[in-house]
Amino acid sequence: MYLHGTSKINEKGHLEIGGADAVEITATYGTPVIVYDEELIRAQCRAYKQAFQKAGVSYKVSYASKAFLCIKLAHLIQEEGLALDVVSGGELYTALQAGFPAERIHFHGNNKTKSEICMALEANIGCFVVDNFWELELLHELAEGRKQSVNILLRITPGVEASTHEYITTGQDDSKFGFSVKNGQALQAVQMVIAKPLYRLIGIHSHIGSQIFETSGFIKSIEILACFFKQVHKETGHTMDVLNLGGGFSIRYTDKDAPLPVQQYIEVIIRETRKRFVDYKYKLPAIWVEPGRSIVGEAGTTLYAIGAIKEIPGVRKYVSVDGGMSDNIRPALYKARHEAMLANRAYGRQKELVSIAGKCCESGDMLIWNVLLPKVQHGDLLAVSCTGAYTYAMANNYNRMQRPAVVFAYNGKVQEVIRRETYEDLIRNDIG
Ligand SMILES: *Cc1c(COP(=O)(O)O)cnc(C)c1O
Repeated sequence: MYLHGTSKINEKGHLEIGGADAVEITATYGTPVIVYDEELIRAQCRAYKQAFQKAGVSYKVSYASKAFLCIKLAHLIQEEGLALDVVSGGELYTALQAGFPAERIHFHGNNKTKSEICMALEANIGCFVVDNFWELELLHELAEGRKQSVNILLRITPGVEASTHEYITTGQDDSKFGFSVKNGQALQAVQMVIAKPLYRLIGIHSHIGSQIFETSGFIKSIEILACFFKQVHKETGHTMDVLNLGGGFSIRYTDKDAPLPVQQYIEVIIRETRKRFVDYKYKLPAIWVEPGRSIVGEAGTTLYAIGAIKEIPGVRKYVSVDGGMSDNIRPALYKARHEAMLANRAYGRQKELVSIAGKCCESGDMLIWNVLLPKVQHGDLLAVSCTGAYTYAMANNYNRMQRPAVVFAYNGKVQEVIRRETYEDLIRNDIG
């Protein structure tokens, strides 16, 4: 298992994260538990900011909270000076409860409900990223009732879709998100926004995908977006201040992944933006990015206790852990791959190839197929790395499993940030 951030193996042969011994963490908080390396989260936040500051451009880095959000993380993101993207009333509520500054909250989503919009207006958040014509009308109607002006970014589909290793240009209309540039709906939306007295059109947003390893998709998007900025100016005389390129920056889950350093993604984005906007003799807009996975993904490690071990001679050895698709649905959902190690016996000998099974009642609940570990024994502690993004955020109560505890480790200190669910929690909303 690759050791990210502050993770290392200590003199006892135990995995250590944020200066805290994984065996001791589980003795206190039980298993499964997700341990975040707080220093690594902060380092990622700073890497984005520094890359922009070095280039001397206006920018905003907004953490896409859907990757993982809790009160403590909202505090951390606030301390690091980032903005926060939310896509639901629940994420907005969490941010507000954490005391996150409303003007730094951006509201995304393709179906914001009336009550969610009202909640966001009431809080007076920084901006709405408007996704479709329905929302454009609804938001204005609700803002009118409150006589409140609203900052708007329009989400557009640039026709660039990022896949894992390359971008492919797709049919403009085949996305549930945003206004298409090619069919003219994006320009139509711009005209509608400009015509509404309470709207202030500050910019354009696009998000082309996730776990993107190359810069070509961003380069293509910038070209198309710059073209669109120019078209808007020509048709309406309106200039916009913000070019929001979304998130999608990749991380290293396994040795097959070769993400670029944050610095490099940002350098390319800035270079291309300068190039395209100088070409058009247009004022350089502020560049906004929205990393989610790359802020928290590598910082998270899940610790499980190993229970049943089943060997089918000549076929495979199944090693079962006390969690699974209820705390990490990614392998079942999109065949995501993770690395693992024995957190209590990092240097154990007699390596063997095993497969890690979750305990949920689905054959598909396999966390890792074929991983080389020291000869596994009952009671060993398994660490699965890179579980910081889209794991707890997608955790569920299938089989009435309790969602795990989450802790932050920093400089040898461990702080519980989400309590493990109890059996009482599971029946809290049941009406008998
Ligand atoms: C999901 C999402 C992000 C973050 O994506 P990552 O791959 O986690 O960086 C950013 N912006 C928007 C609009 C998104 O939907």
